[in-house]
Amino acid sequence: MRRMRTWCERFLRKRSSRAWFLTESNRIACVKRMGLEAAGAMSRSPSAKRHTSSVSLKILVDMDGVLCDFEAYLLEQFRSKFPDEPFIPVSERNTFYAHEQYGSIKVELKRNITDIMSSPGFFASLRPISNAVTCMHWMRDIPDVSVWICTSPINKYRNCVSEKYQWVEKHLGFEWTKRVIMCKDKTLIKGDYLIDDRPMIHGEEQFKPNFGKHVVFTQPYNCNVTTEWRLSLWPERKDKLLDFIMFLREGLAFRD
Ligand SMILES: [Mg+2]
Repeated sequence: MRRMRTWCERFLRKRSSRAWFLTESNRIACVKRMGLEAAGAMSRSPSAKRHTSSVSLKILVDMDGVLCDFEAYLLEQFRSKFPDEPFIPVSERNTFYAHEQYGSIKVELKRNITDIMSSPGFFASLRPISNAVTCMHWMRDIPDVSVWICTSPINKYRNCVSEKYQWVEKHLGFEWTKRVIMCKDKTLIKGDYLIDDRPMIHGEEQFKPNFGKHVVFTQPYNCNVTTEWRLSLWPERKDKLLDFIMFLREGLAFRD
């Protein structure tokens, strides 16, 4: 461990003073060399444009539970529509699918949850997760980084699909609607990283997903997932966001 730490400190000090700051805040324990295939990217021309083939880092970002505060609004709606039923505080949610946990308390609640999710206006009304919108703009502005929204519609898709686009236009701007990838199987989508709150990304290519590495965005139901890639919240400062991007670019494990 000491040998690895020394190596990492030397490596990070050489690469960036900002990264060195990270090591001083005891994050070095989280650092592990994963490969240097992306290392050359740091030295590429800063004038590289993200819409050309010079893109060196493609990041896919999920919506529900990553950009949109799905759980808070679901609970709010549930308590409003079913005030006499037992509810589960967001901090006690322990399954990815809310209807499964509610259904385990009382079978009828499973239907209540799916009805709320498929009702008109639900997905359009979700509030952004703190700092998510700002961080998306910051990431978009980094030369040679390409950011896409990658989201799955629910099975009862009629309201969900169009409202996800509405949400993106309202909170991120119309241009971002051109960067939405909507599909049920994210393992088929090519990228370097997928930031997603789902504990495990299932699909046809789940053992070798095209999105590269899965960065788990922390939610109560994924806290028990052991991973080298975790983002607990969107940074409120740009330098912290750039730290995170640098770790991804270098192929270094990251846990904030
Ligand atoms: Mg999600």
